[in-house]
Amino acid sequence: MSTYADVIVDLSVRSVDRVFAYRVPDHLLDKVFIGCSVKVPFGKGGRLLDAIVVGLSAQPGFEEDRIRDIAKVREEIPGVKSQLIMLADWMHRRYGGTMAQSLRTVMPVKKPVKGLQKVTYILSSRQQAEKFYQEKKDNKRERARVKMIGAMLEEQDQAITRDKAISGLGISASTISSLLRDGLIRQETEQIYRQAVRERLDGWERVVLNADQRRIADAVIASHRSRSEGSRVPVHLIHGVTGSGKTEIYMELMEEVLRSGQQVILLIPEISLTLQTVSRFYARFGDQIAVMHSRLSRGERWDQFERASKGEASIMIGARSALFTPFDHLGMIIIDEEQDGAYRSEVTPRYQAVETALERARLSGASLVLGSATPSLTTYYNALQGRYFLHTLNHRAKEGSVLPPVDIIDMRSEFRIGNLSILSKSLRQAMQECLADGKQMMLFLNRRGFAGFVSCRDCGYVFKCPHCDVSMTSHSGKKLRCHYCGTERILPDLCPSCGSRHIAAFGIGTQKVEQMLRKEFPQARLLRMDRDTTSGKNDMEQIIRSFAAGEADILIGTQMIIKGHDFPKVTLVGVLAADLSMFSGDYLSGERTFQMLTQAAGRAGRGSDPGRVIIQTYQPDNYCIQAAARQDYQAFYEEEIKFRQAMRYPPCAHMLMITAEGADDEQTAQAMQFARKLAAESDRVAVQVLGPSRASITKIRDLYRYVMYLKCPDDRELIRLRMLIEESLKKAGLDKKIYFSYDMDPISLF
Ligand code: ADP
Ligand code: ZN
Ligand code: ZN
Repeated sequence: MSTYADVIVDLSVRSVDRVFAYRVPDHLLDKVFIGCSVKVPFGKGGRLLDAIVVGLSAQPGFEEDRIRDIAKVREEIPGVKSQLIMLADWMHRRYGGTMAQSLRTVMPVKKPVKGLQKVTYILSSRQQAEKFYQEKKDNKRERARVKMIGAMLEEQDQAITRDKAISGLGISASTISSLLRDGLIRQETEQIYRQAVRERLDGWERVVLNADQRRIADAVIASHRSRSEGSRVPVHLIHGVTGSGKTEIYMELMEEVLRSGQQVILLIPEISLTLQTVSRFYARFGDQIAVMHSRLSRGERWDQFERASKGEASIMIGARSALFTPFDHLGMIIIDEEQDGAYRSEVTPRYQAVETALERARLSGASLVLGSATPSLTTYYNALQGRYFLHTLNHRAKEGSVLPPVDIIDMRSEFRIGNLSILSKSLRQAMQECLADGKQMMLFLNRRGFAGFVSCRDCGYVFKCPHCDVSMTSHSGKKLRCHYCGTERILPDLCPSCGSRHIAAFGIGTQKVEQMLRKEFPQARLLRMDRDTTSGKNDMEQIIRSFAAGEADILIGTQMIIKGHDFPKVTLVGVLAADLSMFSGDYLSGERTFQMLTQAAGRAGRGSDPGRVIIQTYQPDNYCIQAAARQDYQAFYEEEIKFRQAMRYPPCAHMLMITAEGADDEQTAQAMQFARKLAAESDRVAVQVLGPSRASITKIRDLYRYVMYLKCPDDRELIRLRMLIEESLKKAGLDKKIYFSYDMDPISLF
């Protein structure tokens, strides 16, 4: 039996889908691996070309007798392209999907960039577009729309520029708007980031590291210098309260890496990737910096990567995709706010940045540094197990800057004395004082992960699933359902804990808060920051600037307002309903709440005034709230890890989420049952199957959605099962009409 290799010949990686098949001759069998460089005969003349192996299989995938042999394996240290292909292979195996999807993730496709303002349209979902195309292709009235969608489906990246659509295909602007309106396509507009950074913020003075910072920087540098090839990647966790000077340490480390002629990738959560943050790095490192974020078009991403691979830049600062920067001599990857949810890809492969960074660091011989004020439970667990070095910073770096006092307000007592407003007496009073003093405040609604739980206003009781210990969500007003196992309950009329009749779904929105505040504080100037007010590309920046410039007294918003922005004039931070995120129906609700409350508290008193934080809640004794109020990570960790252990949730076990979407409800449900059977029949007893059940949103854009979870202490077992399921679905032909996807240790519900 022979082995066959898929190779990419075009080393500029214009198209990662155009793979060519070759046979691996016997004498090269143990030399060929994914990512290795080879020479292959190409075209009629059989000219030898450089190529990289991107896949290996036992089937030829091409007519057997026309396949040619790989000519030779090039003995060389794998270059960065090979490393990235090996990384894609690792991602493909760990997270599922196709190798082409993983390759596209690590290598942006080349797209020439013309003007500064280029508009590109991209299909919102391939499946949806195909369905539209099939249904409408014979409908005369839909001709223009079908033509455009058809053309986009033909494109490798399912995208088309506005130029090409209008002048190339003769599509009218109104046709395009109607497709945008119907959600079939979405629009990407280019923005040159370097321009934005020209207007630098002045006044960033270089600081001298204090003793704690120095000690940590020295330890990381020593371990970095002594790392050796083939040994384990040194991973450092810098656990430091907000404002403790982690960023200054990163800069020190970057300088060290640059001095040794190597390069650095710094990941920052997308949302903090603002002018304010990036300017600080520009002030110190100037044009050695390249920046990457999702608002850049594909062409610009490619350009930034080009700068990196040509050596024009040595530091890449960016959101999660910056992880794939083609640096030839990558020395260090730093991930700030490593717990951030934005480090998880929402499309296949659903990779997790910290795990993937560790693999990239391994392939490149780099060090990995993680920083956070509230590390993810998984990261901290790994640090305590001795897998990572743990460094702690307990104090704010700036002289006189202290963490603010936090008051917890019991909303149950407010309810009992007849205060039905969203504002407790204490918060209202604090707001009045703040306004009278001419200071600024932030009001925070931690809606992230919010899933519509049901609770008692009298005693704070929350309905939870007896099997999964997560809150249940109300359905059609009368029923409760668990997202994990699908268990349903009838909603009783009286609270099972105190007998009160005041049980109801919990919910509140930023817009409502804004309306209410306008009435109650007509003299105050308000700004609101949430998904609705930041849909334009510069909206968020605008709101931040305006608030920083003192153009408003109150900033109301979702988690967006608490991420990393420095507003020295803010002296009051109010958390309106801590419960919102505390019962989001998944195992991460406590962790998420602790992180958000800690971050929110860190926003107050950034200047000389210590400020004040008020947290409103119906569960004032909950350990997440108590620990966040005291900024006590240890206490939180110890309670939370007990819960994870008892319920076998990550990091104490692994959980694979399997989702299926299909146009036919019955078929989709059956395909899911098919997958369930495979998992249940697994000979390894340790795998626990939850579901399948309907997803929390049962139908989106005419596609029915189902979800199922597999739990197991060993992630390799879950990977093995996923591969079995993927393969069996393919064999049974079920993967064509029903779209399956996989998420390892998911951080959100489906
Ligand atoms: P973190 O990244 O942990 O939130 P930063 O590095 O942003 O903390 O530091 C917080 C503030 O303290 C910044 O304004 C920074 O300039 C200042 N700072 C950091 N280290 C020092 C130091 N050693 N001496 C004086 N100020 C410092
Ligand atoms: Zn009650
Ligand atoms: Zn359950």
